[in-house]
Amino acid sequence: MNNHQNNKDEENKILHIGFDDTDSTNGKCTTHLAYLLTNVLVKKFNANFIDFPLLIRLNPNIPLKTRGNGAVCLRIKGKEHDKIKEEAIHFIENYSDLENGANPGLAFYEENNIPNEIISLSNNAMDTVLSKQIAEKIARKNSIQYHLFGKGYGLVGALAAIGCYLDADHTYETIAYRKKENIGTIRKIDKSKVKEISDKSFPHTFNNFDYRKKRVLIAPHGPDPVFCGIRGEDPIITTQFIKNLQIDEDLEGYMVYRSNQGTNLHLTKERRFSGILPFTSGHISCQLVTKPNIINGGHVIFYVKDDFNDVLPVAVYEPTRLTKIAALLEIDDKIEIGYGAHIKSNKKTLNLEYLSIKELKEASYFKNPVCGKCNKNMKSEGKNKGFQCPRCKTKKNNEVKTAIKKDRGLTCGLYIPDPIAHRHLTKPYFRYYKEKKYDKKQILCLLKNTQWISKNSGGLI
Ligand code: ATP
Repeated sequence: MNNHQNNKDEENKILHIGFDDTDSTNGKCTTHLAYLLTNVLVKKFNANFIDFPLLIRLNPNIPLKTRGNGAVCLRIKGKEHDKIKEEAIHFIENYSDLENGANPGLAFYEENNIPNEIISLSNNAMDTVLSKQIAEKIARKNSIQYHLFGKGYGLVGALAAIGCYLDADHTYETIAYRKKENIGTIRKIDKSKVKEISDKSFPHTFNNFDYRKKRVLIAPHGPDPVFCGIRGEDPIITTQFIKNLQIDEDLEGYMVYRSNQGTNLHLTKERRFSGILPFTSGHISCQLVTKPNIINGGHVIFYVKDDFNDVLPVAVYEPTRLTKIAALLEIDDKIEIGYGAHIKSNKKTLNLEYLSIKELKEASYFKNPVCGKCNKNMKSEGKNKGFQCPRCKTKKNNEVKTAIKKDRGLTCGLYIPDPIAHRHLTKPYFRYYKEKKYDKKQILCLLKNTQWISKNSGGLI
């Protein structure tokens, strides 16, 4: 095959670039690295992106994550794949926080269709715990070129991001990045502007403002390069939101991601209790077998059984603001829960991520008869001995107590945590039944018509 033919073949092939674990709690951010690399791919290599950069959140209940367990995949049709790969390696080597414990993984896949094994690895990375060894084995078997740095744990995320077509419900996030010299300083954001634009752009954007605590939710607090991020349904609206904020700080730029954030993708699978492993996520239909118990800190614990009569504790943490509802549950109530499985005092415990009340047990209490003369509740004279009015002493020997339905103070339906306690993957209320369908043509059209990466460094243009 001649060089010309080689180039032609390459132009028709998609290069999928996945990476993860480039940051540490001390700083840096995998999405920022993605922004820097994408800038080079667009400006230096004139790479043709066939999808938005993908920000894929993986199982949020694994112990290994730094913050939000996010991995990135870039899908391009370029001309110089080998040079692009070199550039990506260079970026991971030079911009990862290796000295503070980042363990990056970088993977390249150069075919149009992703192998089933990678898709299935991605699916499993959403809600279970995978090993680096399994990831390496699958990568080798499927001719995926990969590079490990530090301990290389990031390979799991890198492959999972490549394997996530995101061909079902999805959202967008525009993330604005800070200049190096401002990292670590306080982010100045006009609270009233955030609220005003949030009100105007709802439901096209979400989780920008906590209306109960009057707190801005768009910005992290740590020393990472993210200035703020706006999540929503439409990349044009999320980007415009940031531009309308009139941020004083001179920013480095922004980039738009297509993401599984806000989709509950980690909670889609149902497993019986005996099959739930620690640090996995999912949902389960179950029935209460104990009354809820309020413990120190205002958290609530109750026990539930599944269809096989296996029993596990459920923990509802105070910051979710679901404790008041949970405390009203009664034995035999039927519920569905979204959970993250953890180990507490050597016991498997399901941390509640959402509560859906399916059936409330009818509760009732018994009331003594009322005196016909005084309208007073009569007193029991003892078992089967009738009742007597405490005032006029009238007796009723043949009357019985009547059952009165108790108002449970609770209705069936879906209860999800307060926005402030949302995980990246938590689906907000208003997104239920409004999940997006995947439409490849529409996404390509959006990609073409959106300024999805800032043109110039030094601002939001
Ligand atoms: P950020 O959200 O700030 O990017 P992070 O929370 O993603 O940070 P990472 O530094 O990426 O944290 O660390 C997560 C690590 O866990 C990565 O090495 C990733 O490959 C790995 N990982 C992700 N999902 C799984 C999983 N399901 N099983 C095993 N390892 C996983």
